[in-house]
Amino acid sequence: MREEERRRMVVEQIEGRDVKDPAVLSAMIKVERHLFIPGDKLSEAYGDFPLPIGEGQTISQPYIVAYMTEVLKLDRSKKVLEIGTGCGYQTAVLAEIAGEVYTVERIPELSENALRLLNSLGYDNIHYLTGNGFTGWQVHAPYDGILVTCAPKFIPQALTAQLAPGGRMVIPVGMSGYQELLLIRKDKSGIITERVLCGVRFVPMIDD
Ligand code: SAH
Repeated sequence: MREEERRRMVVEQIEGRDVKDPAVLSAMIKVERHLFIPGDKLSEAYGDFPLPIGEGQTISQPYIVAYMTEVLKLDRSKKVLEIGTGCGYQTAVLAEIAGEVYTVERIPELSENALRLLNSLGYDNIHYLTGNGFTGWQVHAPYDGILVTCAPKFIPQALTAQLAPGGRMVIPVGMSGYQELLLIRKDKSGIITERVLCGVRFVPMIDD
């Protein structure tokens, strides 16, 4: 029943909007989104919108999760850094595709809940840090992909620095309420280029 809802979500909301990477589509079919959604919102787990996950935070709309993942061009050889673990849903999607996932969250309760749930689902390629994502996670750098699910006003310097040559970062940047989703690329010689993908709305990235 829920698998059917998930398949419909993928066909209508994700393939229907032109996400094509087969690894992303199969991860979105496999990861049971409803397990990450608070009980009172369960019936909306496969809806075409973001949802509250507690602590004033939100889980992104399924399409945005799929799109941001596809943009990173991941496979099992890749190491990825996520900033803003939240409920851990995007983390699970990344862990289905990448080799190793490093995820940073500033609210300890969210990080602990995500760790517990993702461990219970058997993921053994996810590494958790409670802390401020503005500084990235230096000890495991560089990363082939960086995915940021909260919005800073400017691109944090440490994140660009922790991107591997040939790496890609997807990050919403701007004021609260409206941001541009940016794709940042670092080429083999270390030159950074930036492209605006679309307008988005994420919770702010908090610097404390
Ligand atoms: N990918 C998450 C999105 C959660 S919302 C999900 O699917 O559930 C964004 C998250 O970023 C929130 O959990 C928020 O606490 C976290 N966050 C905000 N500022 C941060 C910072 N400076 N460092 C790490 N996490 C941060």
